[in-house]
This record gives sequence, C-alpha cells and structure tokens, in this order.
Amino acid sequence: MKYSEIFFTLQGEGQFLGIPSVFFRTSTCNLRCSWCDTTYTSWRPEDKQISVSEAFNEITKFGVKHVVITGGEPCLQKTDLMTLCEMLSSKGHHITIETNATIFIPVQANFISMSPKLSNSIPFDDKLWEEIHDKERLKPEVIRLYLDKYECQVKFVINDIQDIQEVKLLAKQIPIPKEKIVLMPQGVIESDIKIRQKWIVEVCKETGYRYSPRLHLNIWGNKRGT
Ligand code: SF4
Repeated sequence: MKYSEIFFTLQGEGQFLGIPSVFFRTSTCNLRCSWCDTTYTSWRPEDKQISVSEAFNEITKFGVKHVVITGGEPCLQKTDLMTLCEMLSSKGHHITIETNATIFIPVQANFISMSPKLSNSIPFDDKLWEEIHDKERLKPEVIRLYLDKYECQVKFVINDIQDIQEVKLLAKQIPIPKEKIVLMPQGVIESDIKIRQKWIVEVCKETGYRYSPRLHLNIWGNKRGT
C-alpha cells in the first residue's frame, strides 16, 4: 500500500474525539484542496510502500482498540484497504475510515467519517487541479450510500459564513440528518481557528449541527505524527 505514516495519538476530531487511537495514514489523493494540511499525501505524495500484512503488524503492535485509517484518500486503494480492514476487524479493532466521500467501497468498518469538500477548497492558483478538483470534490450519491450503510459523521471544514449556505443546501439535497453534520474551523494556526470558532459555535446552536475542535492542533500545533 502507498502510505505516509503510522502513529499512536488521540483522535482529534469529531464523534470519537479524545479516544486513544492508532492512525494509519495512506498516501495519494484524488483531490487537491487549496488548504490541504497533509500535502505530503496529496500535492507532493511521498508514497512509501508497505504490504497489507506489514501494515497490520505495525498497527496492532500498539495494542490499541481504535484504529483510524486516513489519508490522502484511503478508498483509492480499494482491495488492500478492504483486506486490511477484514484483518483488523477479525481481531476486534474498532475501525474508522476517514474519507473525502468521493469513492464508495463496501469496506468492513465501524464508522465512516466523511469530509466532503466545499467550494472553499478549490485551488484557484492551479489551473489543472482547479478543474479536476471542482469536478470531483462532491459526490452526493456516495455520501448517501455511506449514510445508508454505515454509522457516519459528515464533517465540513468551514472558512467563512458563505460556506454554511453550501452545507445547508447539501444537507437538504442528500439529505443528511443535522445531528450527523460536524463543522470544523479551517486553519492550522490557533489564532485563525479561534476567530472562526466563535461564530461557528453560534451557527451550531442555531442549526443543531455539531461543532468539533481540532484537538491535535490545540495540543501539539501543526506537526506530523500527532
Ligand atoms: S481530500 Fe484531504 S488529503 Fe485530499 S487534498 Fe483534500 S484535505 Fe488533502
């Protein structure tokens, strides 16, 4: 498999916030978000190689129940991902897949954490990727499939107030239950996050959406392996 890192930390976002978890970060992505905070898996992928059995051994050696498979976009490596999840599941691990929700695969997982991309993610300074990214970034039928078949959350990275209208439209179109929608402030610097946090919290109170901090950034800052 193409991967970037395996590390043990706390889940920093969403429903399982604060739970000690092993992260397996796959490499390569079909999108190119302007604000991507793991560019080493997307814009400049490192693409280290690991076999499924090696990945299984590295993940399980921590002896931790919760495993988070993230990216990049893990669902691009369909066959290997499905095999790895079957192996982890057979050992009783709780598996979360973090995906941009553009590709559906019937993977064995306990929880699908989707992060569909709003227009704030379009890389306007890259003509090639501006077009590809904008065409690929939203697949409502994929989001619907995951919602129908798995326990899920749908996280949105919020930059400014116009983004909320996009979330509301999408939530109505698919539809997405409001309690499954999670809003997170965009940013990797604490001061940027704090400014957005204030008004996003008010939006959550008004709409019934959930708010999620980015705990790993609060604790460790924008560092790899956290
Ligand atoms: S989907 Fe995720 S990994 Fe891919 S470019 Fe966007 S933020 Fe980066």
